[in-house]
Amino acid sequence: MSKLTPMMKQYLDLKEKYKDCILFFRLGDFYEMFFDDAILASKELEITLTGRDCGLKERAPMCGVPYHSAENYIARLIERGYKVAIGEQVEEPSQSKGIVKREVVRVITPGTVIDSHMLDEKENNYIMSIYIDENGAGISFADVSTGELKTTEFIDDKYIDHLLDEIAKVNPKEIIINTLEFDKCNLKSEITRVSTPYIDVFDTWTFEKDYAIKKIKSHFNILGIEGFGIEDKHYVISSIGALFEYLEKTQKNSLLHINHISYYASEAFMILDKSTRRNLELTETMRGKKRKGSLLWALDKTNTAMGGRTLKKWVEEPLKDVHEIQLRLDAVEELKDAMLIREDLKDLLKNVYDLERLVVRVSYGNANARDLIALKLSLKALPKIKELLDSFNGTKLKKILNNIDLVEEVKELIEKSIMDEPPVTIKEGGIIKKGYHSELDELREIVTNSKEWIANLESNEKNNTGIKSLKIGFNKVFGYYLEVTKSNLNLVPEHYIRKQTLANAERYITPELKEAEAKILGAEDKIIELEYQIFVNVREKIKRYTKKIQDTATAIASLDALVSFAEVSDRFGYTKPKVNHELLIAIENGRHPVVERTMNADMFIGNDTYLDGEENRFSIITGPNMAGKSTYMRQVALIVLMAQIGCFVPADNATIGIVDRIFTRVGASDDLAQGQSTFMVEMSELANILNNATKNSLIILDEIGRGTSTYDGLSIAWAVVEHISSKEILGARTLFATHYHELTELEGLLEGVKNYCISVKEMNDDIIFLRRIIRGSADQSYGIQVAKLAGVRDEVIHRAKKILIQLEENDLNHKTIKDKVEKDTVQEEIAVVCEDQISLFNNNNQMIVEELRKIDILDITPMEAMNYLYKLVKIA
Ligand code: ADP
Repeated sequence: MSKLTPMMKQYLDLKEKYKDCILFFRLGDFYEMFFDDAILASKELEITLTGRDCGLKERAPMCGVPYHSAENYIARLIERGYKVAIGEQVEEPSQSKGIVKREVVRVITPGTVIDSHMLDEKENNYIMSIYIDENGAGISFADVSTGELKTTEFIDDKYIDHLLDEIAKVNPKEIIINTLEFDKCNLKSEITRVSTPYIDVFDTWTFEKDYAIKKIKSHFNILGIEGFGIEDKHYVISSIGALFEYLEKTQKNSLLHINHISYYASEAFMILDKSTRRNLELTETMRGKKRKGSLLWALDKTNTAMGGRTLKKWVEEPLKDVHEIQLRLDAVEELKDAMLIREDLKDLLKNVYDLERLVVRVSYGNANARDLIALKLSLKALPKIKELLDSFNGTKLKKILNNIDLVEEVKELIEKSIMDEPPVTIKEGGIIKKGYHSELDELREIVTNSKEWIANLESNEKNNTGIKSLKIGFNKVFGYYLEVTKSNLNLVPEHYIRKQTLANAERYITPELKEAEAKILGAEDKIIELEYQIFVNVREKIKRYTKKIQDTATAIASLDALVSFAEVSDRFGYTKPKVNHELLIAIENGRHPVVERTMNADMFIGNDTYLDGEENRFSIITGPNMAGKSTYMRQVALIVLMAQIGCFVPADNATIGIVDRIFTRVGASDDLAQGQSTFMVEMSELANILNNATKNSLIILDEIGRGTSTYDGLSIAWAVVEHISSKEILGARTLFATHYHELTELEGLLEGVKNYCISVKEMNDDIIFLRRIIRGSADQSYGIQVAKLAGVRDEVIHRAKKILIQLEENDLNHKTIKDKVEKDTVQEEIAVVCEDQISLFNNNNQMIVEELRKIDILDITPMEAMNYLYKLVKIA
């Protein structure tokens, strides 16, 4: 250490405090990185690694980026999940004795960025703090770029599941947590299964309740925390305490724009787990993860960034409160019917910039003059918006109207002080309007007068000297000068002082000219300095209105989202659903909101749905591949979800009894990449459904048990139908698409189960998809016809047909298990099968192997299989 140069010592001292960050160390016009940081950054940023003498024998590895383009480099590092600490010079080099003092002025982390080019304008960027112990968990999450702070806690016996569902919903960019070591599960891997945040364990003491209460009180400058309704919520309080501590540590700036804690009960919203969000393609498609093709894409016609973010939140967070839903639906209805007003509102909203983020930049002291102009233009749109809203009577729109504050003072202040088209930079003048500040006006007057004097000088001197080509010019080195061509040198007066010789001219100055120049330059310097000060002062004044502007922004965001719902509802013929607490889902002529948009008008065939929780609570849907089964089931789930976010629905008529959760088990998922087999994924999703569904849930099952042998799969599927359809056990409303035609035998056998199929028409050797769902069961799978449609080679199709005939002759497909499996014994038998299989595999008994060899798999019924198994187990 003692051999290090003083600068390197300073670097290492600073780095010691920010070990988990890449330290950007300001040296002149560059941010430099050293040692391991340099090696890492040079790779990540593809910049050259050099070295610098540091006092030791070996040079320190070093790389650097110019400070004026640092933002791009920082953004790249953040995107890759690193944190960056900005070490600035905090004193003027001219004033420092010895080495210039440097400090970390901000830590930029994935969850706390506020620079607009690092943010997606239609998405929130959340940092989440989690406090968890063996009895419960609390979360709080904030978007530093908008000032939003939300919190909730989970303290039932499934709190870890709830926590993970909530993380999947919020999808934070960064998580701080009190511990990842938890007796029952590996929290880090559980969290990364549902989301992809940067996760760090943060200082445990910051989660202590007393410390947290102190933090909250001092942040809001209040005596007690009762006002937020969180006083008895221990987990919530602890998570907020650490969040504030972390934000203070990283932001090192005013956090006053976070001026409210909004507690929500997670039970207030429909729960959607990670795989259901993905399967229903709520905000991005399953393949390619694109926004286009998702429900959000279909519904988002917002005109502001804030409205876009709000609409996304609504889609991710369907409501359960009928009253709340009704308020939104009524507002959508009013806006839908008032087409002309809606058109005007849309035009006005287009003029509203991202108020939420603008006001945070003001509060942070990052806003430039263009931001203030954007703020002013946004505020200008408000009076007319309020006027238009006045014509509506519904509670929701009235509330929005009342929450829009015109913030006239801010508008007028900016109008008076800031030029209409200011430059990006705030340090080079050209920002403040004439008439706002008398000293500035005087300085400008001096500049103007002096410039005028100089302009006049040219013609005066021409007259005085008789030199017609005499010119006045300006350059950075010599300032103002009088230029005379060589041919006129004889006319140059005595008092001209020669300054510069050119090829065919000489340049001169005079004392008066220099005096005027000094006045101009002196005044210009002062103007720049003064304009900056005035600007900062204006910005500080606006800061006082942060809360008012934020409330207005929230109101505008909701309005924009509602207008968007009204717009799509009108354009695509959606209708207002009736919502209530009955167990009914009745949809007439329902359509899939996304699939119908990918087709020409009227090409999509609408279908009815009737699930009443009683006689009709479980639909078994059969039909060939490509018939439209999964489209139909998803459309029902999406219509329910749309109703619960308060949007109209693509149907002629719909009554939706509130659903507490939607579960889906559909196709293969991303977990395959994480090393789980298709069957395993399928079964764990099934386990989740059976463990968590209630009679108020809606369950969508797109085939179960495919990844195993036919009878295994069929037995599981059969037992699942029994379990879910049973009112005593679950009785949830369910749509189940299957290729196991045997399951259609359950109608009549199990209460509440009904068969449906998607109709197709046979034409010679081909099939035509009619896309209509009808009562009854499909009698064939038409797999070979579908394969033909898909372009499988003729010889394979031909051969497959032959094999099918042979198999059918062997009666494989036509054995019913209905007569052989007694309804009430099936579950027990499956349990026996599972247990017995385990002991069978553990025992390497030669006799068993021989017995197994005797079995003709192609000619055995499930019942016989079970009996066989029984026999084998006896042997074992
Ligand atoms: P399945 O699940 O039965 O294999 P899908 O639901 O995947 O079939 O549907 C296959 C294709 O059929 C869809 O991609 C869509 O283009 C079309 N389709 C489905 N339902 C309809 C419908 N109701 N009207 C028109 N086209 C439909």
